[in-house]
Amino acid sequence: MFRTAIAGSLPKPAWLAETHKLWPQWKAQGDDLLKAKADATLLWVKLQEDAGLEVIGDGEQARQHFVHGFLEQVEGIDFEHKVKMGIRNNRYDAMVPQVVAPLRLKGRVHAFEAQLTRAHTTKKVKFTLPGPMTIVDTVADRFYGDKVKMAMAFAELLNQEALALQADGVDIVQFDEPAFNVYMEEAADWGVKALERAAQGLTCTTAVHICYGYGIQANIDWKNSLGHEWRQYEKVFPALAKSSIDQVSLECFHSHVPPDLMKLLEGKDVMVGVIDVASEEIETPEQVADTIGMALQFVPKKHLIACTNCGLAPMDRAVAEAKLKALAEGAKLAAKRYG
Ligand SMILES: [Zn+2]
Repeated sequence: MFRTAIAGSLPKPAWLAETHKLWPQWKAQGDDLLKAKADATLLWVKLQEDAGLEVIGDGEQARQHFVHGFLEQVEGIDFEHKVKMGIRNNRYDAMVPQVVAPLRLKGRVHAFEAQLTRAHTTKKVKFTLPGPMTIVDTVADRFYGDKVKMAMAFAELLNQEALALQADGVDIVQFDEPAFNVYMEEAADWGVKALERAAQGLTCTTAVHICYGYGIQANIDWKNSLGHEWRQYEKVFPALAKSSIDQVSLECFHSHVPPDLMKLLEGKDVMVGVIDVASEEIETPEQVADTIGMALQFVPKKHLIACTNCGLAPMDRAVAEAKLKALAEGAKLAAKRYG
């Protein structure tokens, strides 16, 4: 049997937030919003279990965006005066908050949804946090004046929250580092070190997700500019193979990533993307099993986890549900074929 998991995010129901958006506005406020977030989290826990996934997440229902959800609990950040900044090497503009003082956690960030998820499933729980390098690329620095210094400051805070999540009963803490695919030299140079700082002292499973982004137009255009072979992973995988991180999540299906790059992750669990998040078309179990079969040429069976290419947040809810089912059914079919 092949293990199955999702990268992290899932669409928010229309009664919780605006749909089909990366930075959606909430539909409620205060206590009502908290209740709605809880209901949406439970809904997706159930749907992931019904689909037959092995690892369950909160679907990131309680955070507006995968980076800013964490930042909202960090002191030293000015959210009142956001500035426009080109992010991911100017691939697109975002309104980002500014770091204006020493960084400190105000308290727990994700206790509510982590504990809720833990209480409602007996399966393994994975919880996602943004990686330090990606955070640094999604805020404006008006205080540290040094990228690496600021990344290490964020890594310390992430570590505090990660240790607390572990104490909540989370089995896998995953850091999302799409920036690793944009700043490849820096990722290998200090990005992985910052990541290890964020994961320091964790005894649960640790993971990193590196992707080519959500299925939004800016990312689709960027992918189209990358040429026939996407070799970005080649720079950072050797550094990750030597790191303390246990699992690496990568894009595979419908990407131009040469699959033999997976060999660079020898010894690690590899979360192979078998579900495309940039297409509404539902994969067939046969397609999923084919991708798993192809990956098996480079990743030993015991290290292969079938996964989505990235989060499903901006997708249509019904499409996302169908894709979860395709993922689990395809993994079952692969077990029959290659078991
Ligand atoms: Zn991603």
